[in-house]
Amino acid sequence: SMQLMDGRRGLIMGVANDKSIAWGIARACAGAGARLAFSYQGEALKKRVEPLAASVGSDLVLPCDVGDADSLDALFDAVKEAWGGLDFVVHAIGFSDKAELRGRYVDTTPDNFRRTMDISVYSFTAVCQRATALMGPGGSCLTMSYYGAEKVMPHYNVMGVAKAALEASVRYMAEDLGKDGIRVNAISAGPIKTLAASGIGDFRYIMKWNELNSPLRRNVTQDEVGRSALYLLSDLGSGVTGEVLHVDAGYHVVGMKAVDAPDI
Ligand code: NAD
Repeated sequence: SMQLMDGRRGLIMGVANDKSIAWGIARACAGAGARLAFSYQGEALKKRVEPLAASVGSDLVLPCDVGDADSLDALFDAVKEAWGGLDFVVHAIGFSDKAELRGRYVDTTPDNFRRTMDISVYSFTAVCQRATALMGPGGSCLTMSYYGAEKVMPHYNVMGVAKAALEASVRYMAEDLGKDGIRVNAISAGPIKTLAASGIGDFRYIMKWNELNSPLRRNVTQDEVGRSALYLLSDLGSGVTGEVLHVDAGYHVVGMKAVDAPDI
């Protein structure tokens, strides 16, 4: 029978292991019939990503360091060579020096500020430049954000400043690319235990706080982010662009800790 993503070709960037948010998105898209390619950062991750890709029927697994323009060019050249075009791209990539994901934002060093902005913000713009050159109307681009873009969250620091800029870049690219029928969106996910998240100070406390205080009184899963991504990447989301969709068990609407929420 016909599936939502039949005939759609998507590039998934940011799988490090089976806990990665990118992997939850990949599974949801593959489950709906999409054909996938994957990019990984550096040789060490290649042997992690290849078997995951194979498990969803993908053999297009390519290296890409998004901090390197030549590496980005090579990735999109290879996608063009293999497929001739592209229908969607997922950017689930961020980086900041762990030493600065604790303590005070005001102490951020210039080098880490620039590197965080380059890898966590500019890289999505650089990806969209190249990906949308291969897309026609109906194309869809997606990145990952966090509530620390909007409000001060403990230890998120320079990543919060970067996510604010990333969300603004989603809105500007939605306008630029909307004329070509291409959509650009972000998901603002609640905390999920991944490799990147483990670098954030007191992350277990943040997860517990969200579990106890979000309207759904729990955290979200990788699969829930995957299914919301499927909505934005497929025709189900055809009227949605420039959006930052909160997939956070409702945490972002809460202004004050509820009386029934226990102290932690
Ligand atoms: P993860 O560690 O599984 O994924 C991060 C990915 O970024 C890795 O695959 C890593 O290889 C890649 N990466 C970093 N620098 C790169 C570079 N220079 N070139 C290419 N790739 C590079 O962790 P995750 O939590 O799945 O993170 C994915 C995205 O989701 C990030 O943008 C993160 O900020 C965002 N996010 C995470 C959470 C959470 O709680 N886990 C919540 C909201 C948003």
